[in-house]
Amino acid sequence: MSKTPFIDPFSEAIAALEDYVAFEVEEGRNTVEMDPATIAALATPPPSAAAGPATPVSPPAPPADLPWATLEAVAAEIAACTHCGLHPTRTNTVPGEGTPHPEVMFVGEAPGADEDAQGRPFVGRAGKLLTKMIQAMGFQREEVFIANICKCRPPDNRKPEPAEMEACIPYLKGQIALLRPRVIVCLGATATEGLLGLTGISRVRGTWHTFEGIDAMPTFHPSYLLRKPGAKHDTWADLKAVLERIGRPLPPTAAK
Ligand code: SF4
Repeated sequence: MSKTPFIDPFSEAIAALEDYVAFEVEEGRNTVEMDPATIAALATPPPSAAAGPATPVSPPAPPADLPWATLEAVAAEIAACTHCGLHPTRTNTVPGEGTPHPEVMFVGEAPGADEDAQGRPFVGRAGKLLTKMIQAMGFQREEVFIANICKCRPPDNRKPEPAEMEACIPYLKGQIALLRPRVIVCLGATATEGLLGLTGISRVRGTWHTFEGIDAMPTFHPSYLLRKPGAKHDTWADLKAVLERIGRPLPPTAAK
C-alpha cells in the first residue's frame, strides 16, 4: 500500500483491511480467488494512466440569462464578494477547481483552514482522502470539478448558517450551469441539504436524485470517513453507482 501524507499509514491500512474484510463477509465470501486474467488486470495501469483522461462530454450551452459567461468570471465575482458575514474573516475565497468539462462534480460544505490558506478546495486531510476516492474511480483530480456550497471559511470550521448558504449558493448554481456535469456527488449532510434539500445523509446516501436535470448522488463527506473508516464501504458503493451511471468501467484494481 502506498504511503499517504497526512493519514497515518498504519491506521489507514487497518481501516482499509477492516473495510475489505467487512465487504467480503457481507458478500458471503470467506476466501479470495484470483484467476490469471484478474492477476494480469491487476498488473495493468488504470484507464486514466493507460488510456488518458475519459472522453470529455460536450456540455450544452449554458442558459442565456446566466450572469456569468465563464468559470473565471464566477471566481472573480466570488473574490470580491461581501454578500454574507463570512467575508471579513476569510484569507482567500475558494471558488473551486477542476476541468471545465467534468463528467463528475464533487460538492462539499465549505473551506477549512487549509483551503482558506491556499484558496483551493479539499487540500487538507479530508482533501487527501477525497483525492484517493477520485483516483479509486479511475479519475485524476484534474479530470473532475470540486467545489463547495460556501466559498469562504466559516470561523472555527463551524457549519455554514442557512443565510450564508443562501447568499452563496447562486455561485455554485452558476458553476453547475457552466459545467453541466453528468453527475453531481454531494459530499455530506450540508451539501446534500444545500443543493438537494434533503436531510438525513445516512438515509439518503446511495440514492439518486436530480439537481436541475443533472443526476445527483449524496454520499458521506471525507471528514466523516476519517472519523468513521467503516463508512468507506458504503461510500465506495455510492461511487461505484456513479461510475455505472456514467458508463465508466471500474478500474481493474477495483474490479476484483
Ligand atoms: S461565503 Fe459566499 S456569499 Fe458569503 S462572502 Fe463568501 S463568497 Fe460571498
